[in-house]
Amino acid sequence: MRWWGWGEDGHSVPLPPTAEGLLRDELGADPANRKPPVAFEQVSVPDARLPDALRERLASAVRAENVRDDRETRIAHAVGRSYPDLVRIRSGDASSAPDAVVLPASAEQVAAVLATCADHRVAVVPFGGGTSVVGGVEPVRDGFAAAISLDLARLSSTVEVDRTSLTARLDAGLLGPDAERRLREHGVTLGHFPQSFEYSTVGGWVATRSAGQASTGYGRIDELVEAVRCVTPAGELGTKAAPASAAGPSLRELVVGSEGVLGVISEATVCVRPAPGAWRYEGWSFASFAEGCDAFRVIEQADAAADVNRLSDEDETRLTMAMGSTGSAIEKVGRRYLRMRGHEGGCLAILGFEGEEDEVEDRRRRTAGLIRAGGGVALGHRPGDAWRRSRYAAPYLRDELLDRGVLVETLETATNWVNLKTLHQAVRDALQTALSGRGTPPLVICHVSHLYASGASLYFTFLARQEEDALAQWRAAKTAASEAIVANGGTITHHHAIGRDHRQWLTAEAGPLGIEVLRAAKERLDPAGIMNPGKLLP
Ligand SMILES: Cc1cc2nc3c(=O)[nH]c(=O)nc-3n(C[C@H](O)[C@H](O)[C@H](O)COP(=O)(O)OP(=O)(O)OC[C@H]3O[C@@H](n4cnc5c(N)ncnc54)[C@H](O)[C@@H]3O)c2cc1C
Repeated sequence: MRWWGWGEDGHSVPLPPTAEGLLRDELGADPANRKPPVAFEQVSVPDARLPDALRERLASAVRAENVRDDRETRIAHAVGRSYPDLVRIRSGDASSAPDAVVLPASAEQVAAVLATCADHRVAVVPFGGGTSVVGGVEPVRDGFAAAISLDLARLSSTVEVDRTSLTARLDAGLLGPDAERRLREHGVTLGHFPQSFEYSTVGGWVATRSAGQASTGYGRIDELVEAVRCVTPAGELGTKAAPASAAGPSLRELVVGSEGVLGVISEATVCVRPAPGAWRYEGWSFASFAEGCDAFRVIEQADAAADVNRLSDEDETRLTMAMGSTGSAIEKVGRRYLRMRGHEGGCLAILGFEGEEDEVEDRRRRTAGLIRAGGGVALGHRPGDAWRRSRYAAPYLRDELLDRGVLVETLETATNWVNLKTLHQAVRDALQTALSGRGTPPLVICHVSHLYASGASLYFTFLARQEEDALAQWRAAKTAASEAIVANGGTITHHHAIGRDHRQWLTAEAGPLGIEVLRAAKERLDPAGIMNPGKLLP
């Protein structure tokens, strides 16, 4: 991945021409005033401080060529991929770069590296794809002799499928596309497609309780994991692969979502499904976000939800119509058509069904009946197909926006249905207020994208003209939104995890005793406190 953004050199997704005008008119951003990243040579990296004795022991654990401290590798592991991460790295600040990047190829090598680091009091940051958006992979050196990134890219050979039980054992370092391609060779799919799919890993998903775009249908990663193997400084914690168990509290649950603070997930056994032979993605329109939320609740509670269910609020719909291929697909359906049905200024929904041809058709028909009864108007397959084609485009577009001096960030939460609209309004208001006093009003948009019988997630994107102190501007917005989430009954994170950025709000969620329990588990598994310091625990 590019050191300053998303994707690889030579691949970008250009902003549609309509976006330039929209940025100028709505945000007061001047698209001509470019803010490109500094040249690579200008990036400032502290000197690596890896004592010789430590380097030798690491080299004997993983071989010398897999202990890397060249400038390029260290910069590539300095930050994750949140907006503040990108602001810093694009400005040439790689002060958080690890002293070295170590690449083990087996659980045994991971264990040897952890033992060495514990002896030398070196902080260890497990690194999957580095797509964390909550500061999860940023090394913290304070109080340690050095900090290393433990990059799991070489731990990526095993894909062992049990077609009878429909499970698969996957190495933690497998990237999304590799894992999925190899599962498809066996005719199965994990069905886990986060927007970061191209660059995130199996271990990263499990360590952050990730949710894919089709998680309503296939399940979140925490629902798909049957067993884990976790290498901790105190030894290996393995959990049993069984469909269900009453053998006390689930230790698997302790590891899932542990964000590298307890140990390194070296492999996961996951539930898979036969790969779908057919899919149908389609657009729907609702007169309002409230109407759409009610319809989504009805389909979910009737066990008739699609695999992908996305409902944009009014502002996100307006922006989607103005920018990008989904908008032009709706144009083809016709604004007049929507106006005639009282849906001008309404909300767009995308429903996606996957499975076998007949099953897809049957499910679709049943869902369509409920959606129509809830006020939905069908827009056909074009908006759905356009959404599916562009499902991984947003992070490339974010780089384009950063180039034009635009603050663009996302955050997410979830709550019960009864509270969904209140929370939506509260977070919107908080972001609007935090960002408005500071120049042109921001754009705050939101969608619902993961449905549960008792509630749903809310995913906010906010855009504003970037201020001189871009990090202070982001912090003000992030704090205001997080306070609003906590005060209005939402979870501080539905799928991005805690990392560094949500730590201060975890006590509100887990309670002081809950935090003590987590600390006690960490002290037992990681007595030297070397595992991913500064993350998860407040
Ligand atoms: C553009 C973009 C879109 C995104 N979309 C989604 C989305 O749709 N759904 C979603 O859930 N998230 C999303 N994310 C967030 C992120 O991709 C997820 O948190 C993902 O699960 C991280 O995987 P990774 O392999 O990149 O992990 P990393 O970023 O490398 O690590 C994340 C955390 O897990 C720890 N970790 C990583 N691997 C291991 C391991 N093997 N053992 C122990 N700890 C480990 C790290 O130390 C860190 O704390 C998105 C991020 C971006 C930038």
